[in-house]
Amino acid sequence: VYLTGCTQNAAPTSRTSLDWLGTTITITVYDRVNSNTMDAVFSRIEDIHTKMSLQLPTSEISRINAAAGDSPVSVSPDTYYVIQRAMEIAEASQGAFDPTIGPLVSLWDITGTPYLPTQAELDELIPLVNYRLVELSPENRSVYLPLQGMKLDLGAIAKGYAADESASILRDAGVEHAILDLGGNIVVMGNKPDDSPWRVGIQNPFSPRGSHLAIYAAKNQTLVSSGMYERFFIQDGIRYHHILDPSTGFPAEAGIAGVTIISDSSILADALSTASFVLGVEKGMNLISRYPGVEAIFITYGQEIITSKSMNNQLNYTDEDFSNTT
Ligand code: ADP
Ligand code: MG
Ligand code: MG
Repeated sequence: VYLTGCTQNAAPTSRTSLDWLGTTITITVYDRVNSNTMDAVFSRIEDIHTKMSLQLPTSEISRINAAAGDSPVSVSPDTYYVIQRAMEIAEASQGAFDPTIGPLVSLWDITGTPYLPTQAELDELIPLVNYRLVELSPENRSVYLPLQGMKLDLGAIAKGYAADESASILRDAGVEHAILDLGGNIVVMGNKPDDSPWRVGIQNPFSPRGSHLAIYAAKNQTLVSSGMYERFFIQDGIRYHHILDPSTGFPAEAGIAGVTIISDSSILADALSTASFVLGVEKGMNLISRYPGVEAIFITYGQEIITSKSMNNQLNYTDEDFSNTT
């Protein structure tokens, strides 16, 4: 998802960071906002990155992983909270979303040096991917991975948390109109300053970045997408993307090219978008129907757009090559 045609009255304040939580983050505020508030938002994002990034050997997640099979690690309330929420969605999706996906993500290394694993290599790691094994202890906020080689990866949920936290800092500072873009996780605050809804483009999974197949008119909402177009490599004509099916160890192939979740909670939308991508239309719809106020837009390889309910008022289809159903 991305933004399209944002015209506004007042000159907005915009700030971009590179390389936090593996993505570019741009926050644009359409009200008066002092630079301390923007500083506070970006240091909060940096704080979350510092605690949860797998890229940093000193992060809390890296420390939990390093202690796998050895000892529990006590973590900050932030990290503990995100792990708890991840466990909740893992449970609800019966492991389609699984925060212990780390060993498989490392093996494929799609964002580093992509590698097509052998079946034997996958078979060896699949038993390590199992959220049910994680031992959480609320008293001392500790997390224990009981098997050596187990590895947490919050890549499918941490950006959503950072988005919610950023929006909440802005809201507390009196901001009413803003757009937060955390690498495609979008939060829109309020309406546009002219009181019309924000227009958020839904990426066409088969076209270059920035081509949309529909536009969603959003107000006080978050839109989070997962897609096969996001990160991938191609070998012998086959595309291998970055969302893995924990049960097979392979990139998830449930017929979905992209899915967008719409909600008022970005942490929930982030986890549900990844889960829905793995589950496919039927089971994915089933999952999101359990969360009041959450809606979904699935795009299949057959170029169908399937929505959780009729969104005619808010969703405008802009590409005739796609058919749509509810
Ligand atoms: P993006 O990273 O493009 O925002 P997602 O939110 O769907 O997309 O997260 C994908 C990332 O989450 C992967 O790069 C990987 O780190 C991790 N991941 C991959 N498969 C799963 C899964 N089945 N469950 C949980 N996390 C996953
Ligand atoms: Mg996600
Ligand atoms: Mg995401």
